[in-house]
Amino acid sequence: ATPMALLVGTARGAQLGILIKGPQILESTRRVDTVVLDKTGTVTSGRMSLAEVVAAPGESEAEVLRFAGAAESGSEHPIAAAIASAAAVAPSVESFASAHGLGVQAVVDGRLVLVGRPAWLAEQWAVEVPAASLDRQAELEEAGGTVVAVAWDGRVRGILSVTDTVKPNSASAVAQLRELGLTPMLLTGDNERVARAVAAEVGIAEVRAGVLPAGKADVVRALQAEGRVVAMVGDGVNDAVALATADLGIAMGTGTDVAIEASDLTLVRSDLVAVVDAIRLSRRTLATIK
Ligand code: ADP
Ligand code: MG
Repeated sequence: ATPMALLVGTARGAQLGILIKGPQILESTRRVDTVVLDKTGTVTSGRMSLAEVVAAPGESEAEVLRFAGAAESGSEHPIAAAIASAAAVAPSVESFASAHGLGVQAVVDGRLVLVGRPAWLAEQWAVEVPAASLDRQAELEEAGGTVVAVAWDGRVRGILSVTDTVKPNSASAVAQLRELGLTPMLLTGDNERVARAVAAEVGIAEVRAGVLPAGKADVVRALQAEGRVVAMVGDGVNDAVALATADLGIAMGTGTDVAIEASDLTLVRSDLVAVVDAIRLSRRTLATIK
């Protein structure tokens, strides 16, 4: 039978805004020594806004934004929301498809439009960001922006920079995780420069950036192979496999259904301090059983 203390702990979790899938989960929570945090929507608010549109030589900023906004209108990604709302137009969009962690493609006004990681456009579609825009891309990333490239008819027509902000409690939550003796790590599909900037802002030393959705689970497995007991905290479709792979999967309440389904715990308030609360709760609960 399930010890009474675990049931009480689970109920106490609910009061703290931590939804626990089963009483035994408190056991795995207690053993955790490494906490892997997704960046977008987990450490940051995930409410992105468009910071800049840079047209390639000979292209118009308005067109770049219009085509990008239309192509992104079918995506739920925070980057897509930022671009689509700034564009605020509705040209005819067909055949939308998204490549998770890479970008989107859609036919807009009869043209195949691609929006996504510059490296994805280069590798998959053989279109490169023009040399004239590369310096600007580096500057925008240095300033903490996530830069995506926009292409149609086989050419990159411009780049867009979107920015996000760190959640108010993220730094304090990271400090408290350290006080509990846990090692925090930042894991993201976003570029290295942005990842480093966010990590520095919240006090995380270990960073894995530019990781594709499938690679996120590989990072978790590699840590487990080192003997670490891993909690993964995430919100996106791209985090689902890593959340299921981790010893303890923790989903943000604001996250996608897939992330919540793949997880053991869900944080109602989407505040990282609740991760600290969950670990404290499991330690207290299990201490009373012995
Ligand atoms: P994170 O790990 O921070 O949640 P994702 O794995 O969702 O990030 O995305 C990684 C990268 O893939 C983004 O930084 C962006 O370059 C690209 N990307 C993902 N989705 C989109 C989209 N809808 N539009 C444009 N680019 C995208
Ligand atoms: Mg995310």
